[in-house]
Amino acid sequence: MDGRESPAGGNMKAIEIHGPRDARYHDVADPVVGPDDVLVRVRSVGICGTDLELYDGTMFYLTSGMANLPLIPGHEWSGEVVECGKNAREFCPGDRVVGECTVGCMQCDYCRRGWYNQCPNRTETGILNRSGGFAELIAFPRHFLHRCNGLEFDDAAFIEPTGVALYPTKLASVTPADYVAIMGPGPIGLFTVQVAKAYGARKIILVGTRDDRLAIGRACGADVTVNTRTEELAEKVRDATDGHMVDVVIEAVGHPSVWPDIMSIVAPRARIALTGLFAGQTCTVDFDPIVVKDISILGCLGSPNLWGEAIALHERGLVSSEPLITHRMPLASFSEAVEIVRDRRDGAVKVVLHP
Ligand SMILES: [Zn+2]
Ligand SMILES: [Zn+2]
Repeated sequence: MDGRESPAGGNMKAIEIHGPRDARYHDVADPVVGPDDVLVRVRSVGICGTDLELYDGTMFYLTSGMANLPLIPGHEWSGEVVECGKNAREFCPGDRVVGECTVGCMQCDYCRRGWYNQCPNRTETGILNRSGGFAELIAFPRHFLHRCNGLEFDDAAFIEPTGVALYPTKLASVTPADYVAIMGPGPIGLFTVQVAKAYGARKIILVGTRDDRLAIGRACGADVTVNTRTEELAEKVRDATDGHMVDVVIEAVGHPSVWPDIMSIVAPRARIALTGLFAGQTCTVDFDPIVVKDISILGCLGSPNLWGEAIALHERGLVSSEPLITHRMPLASFSEAVEIVRDRRDGAVKVVLHP
């Protein structure tokens, strides 16, 4: 199969972004399967906030000229193996699989240390110079593909955000001794609630501004929720932690307004893990309390080396996508689905498309 086209050698349906608000559902050539690739029939693919930014043309990689159009988006996907390249014998046709978002070069210094999320030559599936899952087929490098035969396709499509939730949980070393606050009940925040629960956090406090999302957070395992529009955050956290305040903050908002809230609830020696991108917005930081209280601040990009564990969390039922999936639609409805996510229509959280 080296160097030749996939057996179909024909066309497939895919969503291709050609420019701002110009996403076309049309025929594109089937992907070419190299010797280290696996051809996968996509069965379920989720829409993420990043897809909205790609669709609008506002995503950093586009505005900075790093990413090129046209692009098939989609980095939260699952599917079924159709064909294996000649070196990809660890997979079999029919295997259920998920593929990582970040694909490192595996040659550079950072990749060789396992920091492939920091690879300067990396591609990102459906985001940065690599075709994504809003298509009938995807050819994917075997090293970044994972088998998940025990999972439903819709559940497996969200291994990616589970990994993104797992990374700050790991970097902040969440243990049963820790009171954990999660800022932002978006999809990443809601998966982080489940992951922190699986890690045995002493108490999980979910902070947001929308009661419907906070209710989903309680269904996902949050012990306490705080709506900062109607409740006094520091006071409620003090009550919930018996005066201790929180040991870990996982930030999943990506807006500077969250910083004073975070600093109002941290205990001494707290670890603050940041997962949201702030889209270039800056905020004023008073470093004195950070020094005086032994605070650590951790940046977290992606989900390197955590896919096996994320799959295991879903297999064991410790994390589930079901509380978050509100809409299921066909692939052709991509543009409409983007607007449903944008407007949070009918309480939309996660929309999955089926090619
Ligand atoms: Zn995403
Ligand atoms: Zn590299």
